[in-house]
Amino acid sequence: MKKIALHWKIIIGMVLGIIFGFIMNTVDGGKGFVADWVAPFGTIFINLLKLIAVPLILASLIKGISDLKDISKIKSMGLRTIGIYVATTLVAIVIGLSIVNIVKPGKGMPQDTIEKIKLKYENDAGVTDKLMKASAQKEAGPLQALVDIFPSNIFKSFAEASMLQVIFFAIFVGICLLLIGDKKAKPLIDFFDSLNEVVMKMVDLIMLFAPYAVFALLANVIIAFDDVEILIKLLYYAFCVVGGLILMIGFYLILVSVYTKKSPMWFLQQISPAQLLAFSTSSSAATLPVTMERVEEHLGVDKEVSGFVLPVGATVNMDGTSLYQGIAAVFIMQVIWPEGLTFTNQLVIVLTALLASIGSAAVPSAGMVMLVIVLESIGFPAELLPIGLALIFAVDRPLDMCRTVVNVTGDATVSMIVAKSLGKLHDPKPKEWDDNYEDVK
Ligand code: ASP
Repeated sequence: MKKIALHWKIIIGMVLGIIFGFIMNTVDGGKGFVADWVAPFGTIFINLLKLIAVPLILASLIKGISDLKDISKIKSMGLRTIGIYVATTLVAIVIGLSIVNIVKPGKGMPQDTIEKIKLKYENDAGVTDKLMKASAQKEAGPLQALVDIFPSNIFKSFAEASMLQVIFFAIFVGICLLLIGDKKAKPLIDFFDSLNEVVMKMVDLIMLFAPYAVFALLANVIIAFDDVEILIKLLYYAFCVVGGLILMIGFYLILVSVYTKKSPMWFLQQISPAQLLAFSTSSSAATLPVTMERVEEHLGVDKEVSGFVLPVGATVNMDGTSLYQGIAAVFIMQVIWPEGLTFTNQLVIVLTALLASIGSAAVPSAGMVMLVIVLESIGFPAELLPIGLALIFAVDRPLDMCRTVVNVTGDATVSMIVAKSLGKLHDPKPKEWDDNYEDVK
């Protein structure tokens, strides 16, 4: 019998999860049942993905850098990656701002809807939590983000999964391995090579569980929706964000086909399991191991490129998030602070949304925390902030799911382009979880 492709299995799991969630919403005690007996399976899956993220980055980057055999290549890879990341993010923000200014989703929103949303969400724990996190983030000095890249205790970085610190350490080790010469470096390189294979195999095995996990994750998302009426009122705004995100995916497909001469459909098909997981988990960080596996084994990007570009991208490249921040900021202004809608303010949004997406953590709803900082940068009145966030809170989760798909797709696209430019893009050799199973069963 023909095997069903993984992405179809995941899609089936997602659809069933959504249906199940809706049914449970209508059944007495259904929500409790999902929270107690279904959701934990989604958590287990995310835990497993997080479990392997640090060893995966470490092994693939150290092995990759030592394979490069040339320190100057590391520099050129780094500069290209950051340059393309910044460029794609700027494109995303411009797309977002153009859409929101043309469509004007916030104009003419009825006062009673605003009052209703205000009443429901202004003092919601979710909104206050975002405001608190944003003010903690703001207190840090201007160079704190740079200081944070350099760890003082690598085990602490491992334990906290501080992505940029782990990347710094791996590059440092990789460069030193090059400097000590082949003979002395070999045992450690072999060790990391083998570790890399093991972790990649772990990804294959964990992914067997993905269709069931997405069922649990989506059922859990659905039971959180309660006020459909407010959701409908915000559909116009939500469509603007989703429309912008679709345009952004189109932009990636053009980049892929122009620079790498690969078929966009093929690209989408290969990367789709990572996109579906990004959608289900709302976290680029949790999706990272799968993105790495797809990009290396299914798109043919060499480890030295994917091991650097993808973890860096998961942390600093969030095109979906920045596009969303541009639209959300202007939408909020259209509704409650129209006098702030000046051209200068929109220019400031371009810059701050770029920095904010770099600074956003790769976890659910981080983009909304950084949105507060974007709004503050244009002098948005502090007393209106809770109302501003309340306005977009009801639809934040579904939009977070969609923007995370774009964040992950953007990272994969850039890794293809960087790999192509360095001659590190090859015909993929996908591995299955059971390649050696017959020998050991
Ligand atoms: N959830 C997003 C991510 O992990 C970040 C955000 O926009 O909230 O990529």
